[in-house]
Amino acid sequence: MRPTMVAGNWKMNGLSADAVHLTQAILSAGLEQLRPEVVLFPPFTLLHAVSQEAKGTALRWGGQNLFWEANGAYTGEISGAMLRDMGCRYVLIGHSERRQIFAESDDLVAHKVKAALTSGLIPVVCVGESAAEREQGTTEQVLQRQVEAILPLLNRESNQPNLIIAYEPIWAIGTGLSASPEQAQTVHAFIRNLIAGYSSQLAKKIILLYGGSVKGNNAAALFNQDDIDGALVGGASLIAGEFIQICRAAE
Ligand code: PEP
Repeated sequence: MRPTMVAGNWKMNGLSADAVHLTQAILSAGLEQLRPEVVLFPPFTLLHAVSQEAKGTALRWGGQNLFWEANGAYTGEISGAMLRDMGCRYVLIGHSERRQIFAESDDLVAHKVKAALTSGLIPVVCVGESAAEREQGTTEQVLQRQVEAILPLLNRESNQPNLIIAYEPIWAIGTGLSASPEQAQTVHAFIRNLIAGYSSQLAKKIILLYGGSVKGNNAAALFNQDDIDGALVGGASLIAGEFIQICRAAE
């Protein structure tokens, strides 16, 4: 059985008191003792608050983005070294909001993935098609392009994958319209198969998360699918009770 993970992407939400409250709620539910790794992705400004609450526990945290240089004249940017300094183990890269609003291309995503790996972070790389691409029947083409951009960065020398992929259909993000378990499974199997073409060993072990309107009441059915190893949760990760329910469904 592959390891599983449930990650919460808080996006641009929350102030210090919210971060303390949410992290404490998760810890008091004993979630960090569950088999799936529970990871929080707060905004940069809340990484310190989360780390103060979660240090010494099995709960992990990460950044929602990074810049590829380690330091220098890049006003407003945050580097992998800075995230490591905040105790981050993970970093989200290529979230559809970054691809769409900030025009992040596949090349740029790959560049960031490389920087994350160099900094000793585990990238959680988001991929996914838009509603129009699905309607046009180009879902597989889009995913192939996005996955192939990062495939060469998977380390074939190791039998432990150095990155995680989150399949997040854009039409399912924040819409309340999750992909059905079967739809998600079909795409996850497609992605795993693409990776198998590169390394069958890594394909078996890589963690493939599903993201897009995961809630307490649909998580278990998604987690029951063969190729879904966990979830990247947006909106529901801001509601302690809902996030706790999702984590328990992954047990
Ligand atoms: C996300 O933004 O990564 C996400 C999956 O959002 P939501 O769960 O709100 O659809």
